[in-house]
Amino acid sequence: MENTDFIDISQLLSTRRRILITTHTNPDGDAIGASLALASYLKKKRHQVWVMVPDPYPDFLAWMPGTQEVLVYKKQPEICENIVNQADVILAADYNCFDRINEIGPLARNSRAVKILVDHHLNPSDEFDFRISVSAVSSTSELVYNFIEANGDLNLMDREIAENIYTGIITDTGSLSYSCNYIKTYLIVAELFKLGIDGEYIHRLVYDTYSESRLRLLGYSISHQLVVLPEFHTAYITLTKSDLDRFHHQIGDTEGIVNYALSIEGINLAALFMERDGIVKISFRSKGNFSVDCLARDHFNGGGHRNAAGANCSTTINETVQLFLKILPQFQSQLNSVY
Ligand code: 5GP
Ligand code: MN
Repeated sequence: MENTDFIDISQLLSTRRRILITTHTNPDGDAIGASLALASYLKKKRHQVWVMVPDPYPDFLAWMPGTQEVLVYKKQPEICENIVNQADVILAADYNCFDRINEIGPLARNSRAVKILVDHHLNPSDEFDFRISVSAVSSTSELVYNFIEANGDLNLMDREIAENIYTGIITDTGSLSYSCNYIKTYLIVAELFKLGIDGEYIHRLVYDTYSESRLRLLGYSISHQLVVLPEFHTAYITLTKSDLDRFHHQIGDTEGIVNYALSIEGINLAALFMERDGIVKISFRSKGNFSVDCLARDHFNGGGHRNAAGANCSTTINETVQLFLKILPQFQSQLNSVY
């Protein structure tokens, strides 16, 4: 799926605009990286720019250049609402449908602003006026680089923009281990290094910041909560609210846990079910041609990418896991023949 309105968007942005950049709930490194990189670039182009997220980002992203100006809707709803109403352009970065930005969604949808999508997820909704929607890239951050390049503005790139784009690329690809079989991704990374980023240091800032309880939660998830179903090439982990409370769960602490379930040889589908704020959050991961985007969309009202998707369910954690187990047999032959 490739869809780029680069030219229309560049034309629209050729005069000074009030631009609100929004990104998805539970923001990750790509959401924050792409949004902050776009914000710095658009400010250099003399626009007035805000960045807004529905809920807080994890602490391990707080070092990223520009986070101090990110508005969190949950903390300041009135101020945020006022800004949505002032914007004449709303940029949707790293998500494909206004439902993914919680309370900001209806405000954005009803706003008179021109709505632009910059995203790499499958199945973009039709509620945007212009789109940069490309799924064959590592990340939305990579698309931001491509956008700056298409505008002939690579001279405006600086180290801070490069750090944000690099963080987006590494966090969306498991440090360049999946969703990155693209020559261009590596060419961009090389350009980012030329701008002076320190890849090893960024890796430490993002990954070597576990609290003791986060690491123990990971250990508990694997040693106590992991269920392996070899006949379905599937492994899953469930974490109840009391599990999370016991390990003093902080935002971001469960990120990456699902990948351990997928790392077992012969496992092609992994899932993590978590009780959170009265809902059940699911993270799906898969190998090869098995699409968790379809699984999440068709059965759990979620979505994402072919190999990484998620959903939020209002059923109980037991009901959610039971539904998963009930539908698994229909995927048995697909899961048997993943390539
Ligand atoms: P994660 O498991 O890391 O939270 O999410 C994996 C991918 O699925 C991300 O690209 C994320 O944007 C997407 N995703 C996660 N939860 C949902 C959801 O509830 N709905 C949709 N449409 N996508 C989701
Ligand atoms: Mn992304």
